[in-house]
Amino acid sequence: MEKYQMYIDGKFVDAENGETRASINPATEEPVALAPMGTRNDAKRAIEAARKAFDSGVWSGMQPGDRAKILYKLVDKLNDMDCSDKIAETEVKDAGFTISLAAQGEVPFTNYFMENITRMGENISAYEPLPWHDFPDLAWSFVNREPIGVCAGIIPWNHPYMMAGWKLAPPLIMGCTIVLKPASETPLAALELAKVIAECDFPPGVVNIVTGPGSSLGEELCTHPFVDKIALTGSTEVGRHIMGLASPTLKKVTLELGGKSPTIIMPDADLDVAVKGALTGVFYHAGQVCMSGTRIFVHEDVYDEFMQRAIAAVGTIKVGDPMDYETTMGPLISKSQQDNVLRYIDIGKKEGAKLAIGGKKPANLKKGFFVEPTIFVDVHNKMTIAQEEIFGPVIAVIKFRNVDDAVAMANDSIFGLAGSVWSRNIPEAIEIAKRIRTGTMWVNTYHVLSPKAPFGGYKQSGVGREHSLEGLLEFTQSKHILVDLGTPAANRLLFNYVFSQ
Ligand code: NAP
Ligand code: MG
Repeated sequence: MEKYQMYIDGKFVDAENGETRASINPATEEPVALAPMGTRNDAKRAIEAARKAFDSGVWSGMQPGDRAKILYKLVDKLNDMDCSDKIAETEVKDAGFTISLAAQGEVPFTNYFMENITRMGENISAYEPLPWHDFPDLAWSFVNREPIGVCAGIIPWNHPYMMAGWKLAPPLIMGCTIVLKPASETPLAALELAKVIAECDFPPGVVNIVTGPGSSLGEELCTHPFVDKIALTGSTEVGRHIMGLASPTLKKVTLELGGKSPTIIMPDADLDVAVKGALTGVFYHAGQVCMSGTRIFVHEDVYDEFMQRAIAAVGTIKVGDPMDYETTMGPLISKSQQDNVLRYIDIGKKEGAKLAIGGKKPANLKKGFFVEPTIFVDVHNKMTIAQEEIFGPVIAVIKFRNVDDAVAMANDSIFGLAGSVWSRNIPEAIEIAKRIRTGTMWVNTYHVLSPKAPFGGYKQSGVGREHSLEGLLEFTQSKHILVDLGTPAANRLLFNYVFSQ
């Protein structure tokens, strides 16, 4: 079995105490590889290396174009067929992706994202002159955009490779140094990435990848005074906790957290795409996606037809061996996640929702943490299954009569990450999208993201934005520099407030 190492200060190292944790294949329940169980001291070593690299100016002082060249080289290597195949296979074995989703979606999209966000960051000017309208003859001033410093990237288990790419490329192109921590369930994609990073020309300490428990190594990243910024993708619960950990040292935070996103099916929706679209919004990667559109509000005029077609569509989902290209739904990440999803299904039944399809472990799959694609009907928006994030293949369908009710129910959630509207009337759909308090809304599609578009949550789905110009600027600070033009008037006026002559 392969034994991976962490990447600290340009070197591959074990945990200080040599401890490892076996990563489990969620489809077979067999161990895949060993990853280091890093400690607080390992986190400290990585943070110190990142601090030293940042303060030396070896990276932050480099021209953005030169940083970009190194990132493009990394992307080129990642795009190499053997490398992409290896990472895709790692995602299947470590995280339960289907091979088609990993090889054709996750891996190429992540590489595309890293390349494009690098290009955007490379072109952000550090220098922005201010028209000094107040005192044009007296002073000249400009904003200098500076990298924020040492960043900690903390990521979840649902998209290990994509999350690693999202957390690395933006701070790096903006001149920051980083310590990245993958989830304990899925450390391997990030450690594979470390091997490729080591073949590029990043100065030691600029990129560090450490593995270990969130409760110790992760907390060190969130409290150590050398860390300037934390970017977390994870659960709302951990997000709340980390925001608290960041407060004594007032670290900047961006938090990408959970969701309970609404999908609204209008009476004029094209059901040929809307049914599969709405279901894809949840059954993609077995519902283990923060943006999943797990509450589907269906207009009463099309409700019966929608449900009939939805049940038929679920029959075409192939659950099973994720290494098989025919498989369209793999397992959940772990036994505890499987138990949690089954527990929510139980709660749904107890609270009076009606199971339309699914609801169990698939009878034919003896091993692996699988759950059938599941749809509940007769759901009330106040029920637990309509309010809490389940993070599995479970849909709550809610019938509505008028659109104001649908909007009100869609917004009746602590979350605000994403959602969709399905209608042939595009202007009306856009107006509905504007009324939903979430960071992303799709019209007649789902799950489509772009490095150019801001991504993040309203309400308890997060703080700040990733991607886009806005997301890149989150890795910078603005400094105002004002130069007196040497005309005596300004300083004379100021001095009069302090000196008598
Ligand atoms: P999680 O339990 O919140 O963990 C996320 C990361 O935080 C992991 O690396 C975890 O380490 C670490 N962590 C846990 N406790 C910590 C602490 N006290 N201090 C520092 N770090 C700590 O989330 P998950 O279960 O892995 O992932 C599923 C969640 O992520 C869902 O809620 C989902 O909605 C959310 N998510 C959000 C987005 C988005 O962009 N908005 C995208 C994907 C997923 P360990 O693994 O070692 O515990
Ligand atoms: Mg977890």
